[in-house]
Amino acid sequence: MVKESKRMLVKLKLPRKLVNKLDRIARERGIRRGRLIASLLADWVEYYVEDRFEPFSMRLDRMGVIDKLLGEIVVVRMIKGEPYCDYCKSFTCGHARYVKKLYSRKWKKILMEKMDLEDDSS
Ligand SMILES: [Zn+2]
Repeated sequence: MVKESKRMLVKLKLPRKLVNKLDRIARERGIRRGRLIASLLADWVEYYVEDRFEPFSMRLDRMGVIDKLLGEIVVVRMIKGEPYCDYCKSFTCGHARYVKKLYSRKWKKILMEKMDLEDDSS
């Protein structure tokens, strides 16, 4: 979906210990170092960005999210009631947080509608 031209090669001189830690986390999650760093930076920059996310598709157990910062459509699945990001392999990234927020709103709406229905029947 993302053309190569949308990606830039950035050279960073980072402390070796930090890079080693990042590599270990990336390996444990099974994602590339570049993806981990891009996700972490996007999460951090998110607070300075107007609208990073947009819902792409929504089902009860999974949601597609457009991440405008990363230029990707990211799939977040519900695992044991918690959003899990397939892109970052994480429960705690910005994508998972965004979906958690949306789902709690959606569930609130569903519960309210259900309560309304029950009110009608009584
Ligand atoms: Zn993510």
